[in-house]
Amino acid sequence: MIKPGATIGILGGGQLGRMIALSCAQLGLKTHILCPDADSPAFQVSDGHICAAYDDEAALAELASISDVVTYEFENVPLATAQFLQARVPVRPGPRALAVSQDRLAEKTFVRDLGIETAPFAPVDSLDDLIAAAAAIGLPAVLKTRRFGYDGKGQVTIRPGDDLAAAFETIGRQSAILEGFVSFRREVSVVAARREDGAFAAYDVTENVHRNHILHTSTAPANVTAETARSARGIACRIAGALEYVGVFAVELFVADQGLSERLIVNEIAPRVHNSGHWTMDGAVTSQFEQHVRAIAGWPLGDTACLGRVEMLNLIGDDVDDWQRFLADPAAHLHLYGKQEARAGRKMGHVNRLLDRDPEGC
Ligand code: AMP
Repeated sequence: MIKPGATIGILGGGQLGRMIALSCAQLGLKTHILCPDADSPAFQVSDGHICAAYDDEAALAELASISDVVTYEFENVPLATAQFLQARVPVRPGPRALAVSQDRLAEKTFVRDLGIETAPFAPVDSLDDLIAAAAAIGLPAVLKTRRFGYDGKGQVTIRPGDDLAAAFETIGRQSAILEGFVSFRREVSVVAARREDGAFAAYDVTENVHRNHILHTSTAPANVTAETARSARGIACRIAGALEYVGVFAVELFVADQGLSERLIVNEIAPRVHNSGHWTMDGAVTSQFEQHVRAIAGWPLGDTACLGRVEMLNLIGDDVDDWQRFLADPAAHLHLYGKQEARAGRKMGHVNRLLDRDPEGC
């Protein structure tokens, strides 16, 4: 049983690690962060840190000796790192969730084997595989590297008439999957939490809009039918149960039209707190970061109820220069990540706006 005063180890020192650490502090827990980047935003708000590579065994052993439980803020933690730590200290979520979500082929196969719809997909390890997959699945389709793809990196859309060899070159001839192109109406996600004993709680379904492959806005609740929302949360619950998951996670889904009703297609599982759940910091009773801490500590899950319609806007690159304008908006909550340099495409902060706020209210 983790008690206030215990130490949570966090792999990764970006904004997600930072916001987990802030929630730990709120709950009287200490944090120790391991990250190779000396400028990590999470270091600024933690009790201690280790600046070392994720495969540095001496550093990992030190983190394990300080921590009562270890968690992570990104899914590309090397599996060997999670296993090394798990031999010494509880790691939540466990290595199984990492193994499934690090590899798009394993992930899609896992979801399909649960009887949940995905886009049609096929493994691609050579140009011949790609030619066969394109013939089987049809074009347009999306070629995605199996590993290390994020924010649209490591993927290319192939349209009828495109040169398949050139597409395979574009992704560096890496092991990949070809996915059928989904003509979706909306992209949504479910952010949810599961405890070791199976207790489960999901937030309202969130609608996500991307710009240049990076999340731009998330709006909750999503504009989907009550039945679609129920099924999306049910899908998240089944995935979490099958992974024996502990902590907060997100499932990204496409909503496609099916006659007059809606159809859900799972795109991705993120075994961590998620950008599309940032609205919960100001728009839900319990934020996803507090919820993650509660789940990995074995504490009761908090209430996921939404406080009203809410929109999260990501501040990318020099969007952050408008910080004074956001502060002047009475409906807005500004969150900045303490990053020094506002490079193009870099997530610098976000703003949550409560859309139903009554300006006359007290
Ligand atoms: P991913 O890296 O898999 O999350 O994909 C990034 C974005 O590319 C998604 O949020 C979608 O907007 C788009 N995308 C990915 N896969 C597909 C697909 N099979 N069909 C249509 N759009 C896709």
